Amino acid sequence: MSGKMFETALALRTMDPEQTAAYQVELLREHLAQAMRAPFYGDLLGAAGITPGDIHSLSDLADLPLTSRRDLDNQGDRFQAVPATEIVDIALTSGTTGPPVRVPYSVADLERLALNEALAFYGAGVRPGDICQIAVTLDRCFVAGLAYYNGLVRLGATAIRSGPGQAARQWELINSLNPSVLIGVPTFLLQVARWAAERGRDPAKAGVRLLVTIGEPVRQPDFSPTPLGNRLAEIWQCPVRSSYGATELETGFTECAAEQGGHIHPELSLVEIVNEEGAVLPDGEPGEMVVTPLGVRAFPLVRFRTGDITRKYTEKCGCGWTSARIGPVEGRLSQRLKMRGTTIYPETIFHVLQELKQIDASYIEVCSAYDLSDEIKVIVGSRETLSGREVASLLQARLRVRPEVVVRETGEVLKVMTRDGGRKPKRFFDLREETSR
Ligand SMILES: [Zn+2]
Repeated sequence: MSGKMFETALALRTMDPEQTAAYQVELLREHLAQAMRAPFYGDLLGAAGITPGDIHSLSDLADLPLTSRRDLDNQGDRFQAVPATEIVDIALTSGTTGPPVRVPYSVADLERLALNEALAFYGAGVRPGDICQIAVTLDRCFVAGLAYYNGLVRLGATAIRSGPGQAARQWELINSLNPSVLIGVPTFLLQVARWAAERGRDPAKAGVRLLVTIGEPVRQPDFSPTPLGNRLAEIWQCPVRSSYGATELETGFTECAAEQGGHIHPELSLVEIVNEEGAVLPDGEPGEMVVTPLGVRAFPLVRFRTGDITRKYTEKCGCGWTSARIGPVEGRLSQRLKMRGTTIYPETIFHVLQELKQIDASYIEVCSAYDLSDEIKVIVGSRETLSGREVASLLQARLRVRPEVVVRETGEVLKVMTRDGGRKPKRFFDLREETSR
């Protein structure tokens, strides 16, 4: 991407929202035309008598049918909108809620994703001349690491493809290549810093000036840092900005320097927040995030239900950009818990547990007791003396509900969390009947 093209893309971030919306209507029409080349949308929208020409304003988007994860699981192949000869890369979703879905990319799709990440890193404060260590998987059919790499290259920053894991090796690279930016999963970046600190080196003096995180939230719904976010900022002595994305969306949302949510790139996606019935909710209200990525060629989705709960904000951001933002993810819709009339997400419980430094690992087990309340058991692992009552009291003070707490030896807890051999340790065990949810 030439410097001029990037300048043009940046200009869109400060454009008048009305002008932006008019431009997005054009993009949405083109996107629908492309989506209808895929058998799934050709049939779905065709049967409903919808054509791209029916879109006159962005509010018309709400009249289109929603796409669910189940649609992808059952009919994944019917979403492809280009001939096989246009496919240059195949990514697989992480498959946390079912078998992995095959997501094919064309050359244009990879370039689009690179633009997404170049803009995201720019917004987060990365500039040409920055050296960025990518401590994220770049292979194994995952797309995030590849997207970060291509984005940094587009931006003109320097990428170090260190990949995930191995704190000692990461620290060695930090020492020898002097990155100014680290990109990784929060708990792992904390582990690297601790590894160094335990050996008498000071992570704060390593020259790292920014952390960009993926995977775990570092901010609460009110944008204040989670205990984990605080700990990271403290040990590295630099800002922590999070990114959110999903393979099938081919889109990511990353926080800017104002740290007031992840920016939605206006030419790359439209985001709606909907309630359980699928009705669009007003700005600032929590609900399920629905994403329509724009400009995707090979695997174009329309109104995809992510299953993640968040909020949308449209007022001008403190960074000067006018593009809308999404708040921190508050939980997964499928993991919503009911306790004495209160709705609660496991993520909220984990945030509170982070306050207790004696807790090394934790997971939640839930079974349905009655229709109105789930039976929640919080299992924490500790190498120190810690009473279940102490943990339960903290949870009660913060959440106003008191789940059962069981304290076990750390190794025992980790064994349960990793017994399925997934990409990351499992933290939520749902024993409720499918029908009672
Ligand atoms: Zn901003």
